[in-house]
Amino acid sequence: MEFELDETHRLLRDTAGAWAEREVDPLAAAIDRSDEFPMHLWPAMGELGLLGVTVPPEYGGAGFDTLAGVLIIEQIARFSGSVALSYGAHANLCVNNLHRNGTEEQRRHYLPPLCAGTHVGALAMTEPEAGSDAVGGMRMTAVRDGDDFVLNGTKMFITNGPIADTLVLYAKTTPEQRQHGITAFIIEKGMAGFTVSRKLDKWGHRGSPTGELVLEDVRVPAANVLGEVNKGVAVMMSGLDSERAFLAGESLGLAGRALELSISYARERQQFGQPIGNFQLIQGKLAGMYVQVESARWLVYRTAAAAAAAARDGRRFGKEAAAAIMYAAEVSTRVALDAMQIHGGYGYLNDSPIGRIVRDAKLLEIGAGTTEIRKTIIARELLGLR
Ligand SMILES: Cc1cc2nc3c(=O)[nH]c(=O)nc-3n(C[C@H](O)[C@H](O)[C@H](O)COP(=O)(O)OP(=O)(O)OC[C@H]3O[C@@H](n4cnc5c(N)ncnc54)[C@H](O)[C@@H]3O)c2cc1C
Repeated sequence: MEFELDETHRLLRDTAGAWAEREVDPLAAAIDRSDEFPMHLWPAMGELGLLGVTVPPEYGGAGFDTLAGVLIIEQIARFSGSVALSYGAHANLCVNNLHRNGTEEQRRHYLPPLCAGTHVGALAMTEPEAGSDAVGGMRMTAVRDGDDFVLNGTKMFITNGPIADTLVLYAKTTPEQRQHGITAFIIEKGMAGFTVSRKLDKWGHRGSPTGELVLEDVRVPAANVLGEVNKGVAVMMSGLDSERAFLAGESLGLAGRALELSISYARERQQFGQPIGNFQLIQGKLAGMYVQVESARWLVYRTAAAAAAAARDGRRFGKEAAAAIMYAAEVSTRVALDAMQIHGGYGYLNDSPIGRIVRDAKLLEIGAGTTEIRKTIIARELLGLR
C-alpha cells in the first residue's frame, strides 16, 4: 500500500499550485466582489493541460487520472473556490463525462475546444423541482421527431450554465419508465430555443456563474445522444460518483488554505505581549484543524485512486465517493469557521479571504448531492438496500 504521491502527481500538484498562486490568488478577491467569471484563465488552463486532465492526448487532453484532477482542483481552491468550482464543472462534470460516454465522433468534435479552453463546459441535471430527487422529479422531456429530439423544460443551479458552450443535459425520453426513461444529450449554446433565463446571485462561489436554463422546443440531433437512449441514468449515476470524488478536492483546498492562513496569523498576531499561537486554546484549535484536514486528505486521495481504478474497470464507488465529499465538505466548513475565530475581528472583514472561504466551503455540503443524500447513499450501501 502506497501512502505517498508518485513523482508525476507531485509534479502536477506543484505546477498547478504555483500557477494558481501566481495567476488566481491576485484575482480572487475581485472575482468574489464583482461576481465576474475570469474567462481569460480558461485558455491558460487549457495550455497547461488542466482542463482535459483525464482525457487522452488524442482529444487534446493530458491523459492523467482522477487523482491528478483532485490534486489540481485542490490547488486552485486554495486560492479561489469560484475558479475551482467552475474548473470542476468543466473538467469533470462535462469533459470527463463526455470522454467516458461519448462516441468517437462526439469525442473528436467536442473535446478539443473544451480541453483547449476556447469552449466552456457544464452539466445540467438539477431542475427547479428536482434537486435531491433528480431522477423522480425530472420534468425536462425529449420527444423523438425524425432525426431529432425536441427538448422542453428548465434546468436550475447549473454551474457555468450562463457561459457554457457545451452542456451535458439529462431529459426524460420515456417519462413513464422513471429511471429507465432518462437520456443524456450534448447541447450547444447556439441551439435555437436554448436560453439562460437567469444568472443566480449567490452567497459564495461568486464569479463561478450559476444559471437557470430554459429549453423551449430545442431540436437536438439524435447524433447528440450521449450513451444510449433511455440509459441516461447509468451515465448520471457513474457521473455523480466521479463528480463527488473530484469535487471533494475543492473542500480539501479550501480547508488546507484556511489552516495555512491560521498558522501564519497565529505566529504574527500579538496579544498580551506575545503571538496568539503561544496560547494553548489557539494551539488546540490549530491541532484540531490539522488532524481534520489530514484525515480528509487521505480519504479524498484514496477515493480518487479508487475512482481512477474504477475508470479502468467500470466498478462503482458510490459509498466511497459520497463518504469522501461528505467528510471533506463538513471538515472545510468547520475548519474555515475555526480560521475565522483565530483571525478574530480581522477575519470577519471583507478584506480578509477567510469570509470568502467560509461562504465557499458551505456549498460543498449542498451541491453534488447534499450531506443528507450522501449519508443515505452510504447507509443504503452498508445495509445492502436498493
Ligand atoms: C452553487 C450551486 C452550483 C450547482 N451546480 C450544479 C450543476 O452544475 N449541475 C447540476 O445539475 N446541479 C447543480 N447544483 C444543484 C445541486 O446539486 C442541488 O442544489 C442539490 O442536489 C440539492 O437540491 P435542492 O437544492 O433542490 O435541495 P432539496 O432537494 O430541495 O433539499 C432540501 C433539503 O432537504 C433535504 N432532503 C431532500 N431529500 C431528502 C431525503 N430523502 N432525506 C433527507 N433529507 C432530504 C436535503 O438534504 C436538503 O437539506 C448546484 C447547486 C448550487 C447551489
